[in-house]
Amino acid sequence: MRQVKKLRVGLDFDGVVAYNPFRVVRAPIKWFKREILGIRRLTFFVPKNWWQRFLWSIVHESSIWPATGVDLLRIMAQNPHFEFHLITARFGFLKGNLYNWLEKNDLKDIFKTINVNENYEQPHEYKLRVVKQLQLDYYVEDNLDVVVFLRDKARGKVFWIYNFMDVRHPYPHKFPYLKRALEEIK
Ligand SMILES: [Mg+2]
Repeated sequence: MRQVKKLRVGLDFDGVVAYNPFRVVRAPIKWFKREILGIRRLTFFVPKNWWQRFLWSIVHESSIWPATGVDLLRIMAQNPHFEFHLITARFGFLKGNLYNWLEKNDLKDIFKTINVNENYEQPHEYKLRVVKQLQLDYYVEDNLDVVVFLRDKARGKVFWIYNFMDVRHPYPHKFPYLKRALEEIK
């Protein structure tokens, strides 16, 4: 049998595979950090104690549902030309919830690997490391800061899923939701 060349596609979880309407709060938080606190370096909040983790898990569990495009994702995952990897910077303590959600939405078995940020690395650094390690042809991400950080460092193409707050930002591979990004890869 002839060996087919697989396209290796990495997907972020929050904002790409799962849609969370609360993710738009990132824009004002980012503005506050930069303009009021004067933080310009790319850093993300890492919850360290039990109550921070508790609040963090509530924010992540609230109102998330499968993104537009998971039907196409399930179909493409059956095609031997594609290989899908889930890469989430969600911290290790959210792993149980993540697996439950994937199971519940019939998405757990379509990924070749599921990568969770177990060692509390900074999200952008964690993603770069895994994207390189998996030698991805495509990586789909919704956080613009992470997209900008990865785009010149990753070997493959970095696709960006935008939201209405940052839609005006120019980027060559930008898509409104997962389905459009997958149609481009297909
Ligand atoms: Mg995300």
